[in-house]
Amino acid sequence: MERFNERGMLIIPNPVRERTAADKILVVCSLFCPDGHNLISSRAVFNGYPGILVKASKGSKQGLIALSPVYGSTARISLDIDLVVGEIMDLHCPVCDILLPVHSPCSCGADLVAFFPTKKSDFTDCIAICNRVGCINSHILINDEVISLSMVDAF
Ligand SMILES: [Zn+2]
Ligand SMILES: [Zn+2]
Repeated sequence: MERFNERGMLIIPNPVRERTAADKILVVCSLFCPDGHNLISSRAVFNGYPGILVKASKGSKQGLIALSPVYGSTARISLDIDLVVGEIMDLHCPVCDILLPVHSPCSCGADLVAFFPTKKSDFTDCIAICNRVGCINSHILINDEVISLSMVDAF
């Protein structure tokens, strides 16, 4: 069975059988900053999968946030920063501190920040996550095709 696609994502059967909207879940296995640093870290593990580690800053406070790599899951852990729902955070690479680029505006008025599944930093093939704490707007763009939350409805 082909478990990895060429973009470093892991496709596994959805164990939640009764939710027939999706029979698979998508797990992000590699994600890079524009400089090619891997943002996947085993410092925070979600459902057995290493999380996405980013540095968040707002004014004088900053810290690390781990996001669930399972598509559709809004689980996140803040490691040393207090997150206030509704606040807009700047998201940086934890290695080189580069500000992660904006993909497009989110419908909530904040920005969808781009994360790249390959080191090519290709905006047509990226994962966009809203930088407003508590906004569930995140989606995965694969070949410009948006997979909606309802199509990949995990957990
Ligand atoms: Zn970096
Ligand atoms: Zn948003």
